[in-house]
Amino acid sequence: MADSPAQPPAATPRRKAGRHRGEGQWAVGHFTPLNGNEQFKKDDDGLNVRTRIETIYSKAGFDSIDPNDLRGRMRWWGLYTQRRPGIDGGKTAVLEPEELDDKYFMLRVRVDGGRLRTDQLRVIGEISQEFARGTADITDRQNIQLHWIRIEDVPEIWRRLEAVGLSTTEACGDTPRVVLGSPVAGIALDEIIDGTPAIDEIQRRVIGNPAFSNLPRKFKTAISGSPLLDVAHEINDVSFVGVEHPEHGPGFDLWVGGGLSTNPKIGVRLGAWVPLEEVADVHVGVISIFRDYGYRRLRTRARLKFLVADWGPEKFRQVLEDEYLKRLLLDGPAPAEPVERWRDHVGVHRQQDGRFYVGFAPRVGRVDGTVLTKVAELAEAHGSGRLRTTVEQKMVVLDVEEDRVESLTAGLEALDLTVTPSSFRRSTMACTGIEFCKLAIVETKARGSWLIDELERRLPEFDEPLTINLNGCPNACARIQVADIGLKGQLVLDENGEQVEGYQVHLGGALGLEAGFGRKVRGLKVTADALPDYIERVLTRFQEQRTDGERFAT
Ligand code: SF4
Repeated sequence: MADSPAQPPAATPRRKAGRHRGEGQWAVGHFTPLNGNEQFKKDDDGLNVRTRIETIYSKAGFDSIDPNDLRGRMRWWGLYTQRRPGIDGGKTAVLEPEELDDKYFMLRVRVDGGRLRTDQLRVIGEISQEFARGTADITDRQNIQLHWIRIEDVPEIWRRLEAVGLSTTEACGDTPRVVLGSPVAGIALDEIIDGTPAIDEIQRRVIGNPAFSNLPRKFKTAISGSPLLDVAHEINDVSFVGVEHPEHGPGFDLWVGGGLSTNPKIGVRLGAWVPLEEVADVHVGVISIFRDYGYRRLRTRARLKFLVADWGPEKFRQVLEDEYLKRLLLDGPAPAEPVERWRDHVGVHRQQDGRFYVGFAPRVGRVDGTVLTKVAELAEAHGSGRLRTTVEQKMVVLDVEEDRVESLTAGLEALDLTVTPSSFRRSTMACTGIEFCKLAIVETKARGSWLIDELERRLPEFDEPLTINLNGCPNACARIQVADIGLKGQLVLDENGEQVEGYQVHLGGALGLEAGFGRKVRGLKVTADALPDYIERVLTRFQEQRTDGERFAT
């Protein structure tokens, strides 16, 4: 199906208007905005805010920004106001948004497929040092986030990013977000298929296209041809997972409707096999279904997962084929269970061409502008011009000759970017948390780093694959529901009855073919200070009681 304009809604009502009146679906003729977000999107497309940033706001300053742009459309260009320093987590739910707003922004740089050249990384590093007080975090969606951005500097930052082929277009907002891709696409020895051409085609056809810039909410995509299932495909709105078709060869298994946060859902297979050259067509079909049939009344139900849950995979596939692709999809096999549980590509691995890729582990994704610049220089000094980010907040240097690996590894270690991390350094992820996030209740990044140190000291021999994920609030930015140990930030009572920062514990979540959500252990809330004690206890008991071959789980 060709990309069709979405605004004003062009869809002809396909069913009797009013049948699903309560959900605000365009495809059933319900075009009247049912909430403030739908109204501001109808009033003016989010993409249009760029002109106002360049011509008005960056010149007249923060106070000139229209509130609907400030807390709405700025996201279409990767900008969120950050949390005003000094507001504790107990105030998060009671203050008005404007009381939480700082006059600085978080800026998200989208890194589709996690692909970065060294010149691009250097530019991000320089922007971080010059405009972002040195901040830089690698996110678990392969992006890089900067903080302390002034509106006055945004046009110059865009100019520098775009000069090297990077952008912040639709990095946030009700839009097609960054397309996740295997960090080792095109180079891994065990690769089933390289999805890179499909990522490029989706970027070309979908990102920044006004046909898809007013979606019910965010839309997440993942594409990987790695047998390690290395892009968390189970929790994306649409995913293409590499499989070998017995007759047609390598292609992709199609999944839809995954997502975390409230009402988490594992994506479902449609049982369809998609060849590489048709991935972008199918992607456009799925995103069009979301735009046209997605629920727009309640923000809490405005993700594709709710439509998929209501329709079921058979009906979803039928609508995709009949109304959007105008042809049938081929049936295909499911992916196989990965042989390894670590999927982050950390360590030294041989490539298809005989060279090596080297994955390393920053602490909970936190780096800084100086470090990024040094990593770019280090990679170049070792003959590499390419890097990748991973969905575990890690990075990979590609294309290293064998005789340069040792020196590169030593250089990374000197930057505290270890290639041989402990299980704890490797496994711990943290969201932005109270340092910058307006929704946060507790600290995450610094606490995650401290937790790594404590667990390394207490359990130096522990070498099991596991995942420890920290969120600063009940949302799911660090994927707590699918972690072995998921820690959901909230205020808890300490032994003296005082309210302090702490976490609700979820145990036993997983991705992969055993994907499922961790069990919320009833009443199990741990104060922040007691986290190392608690996790040490859980892991020690696991080591004492496990049977042969049992992996960490509850
Ligand atoms: Fe903010 Fe909550 Fe997301 Fe963490 S999980 S980044 S605190 S919204």
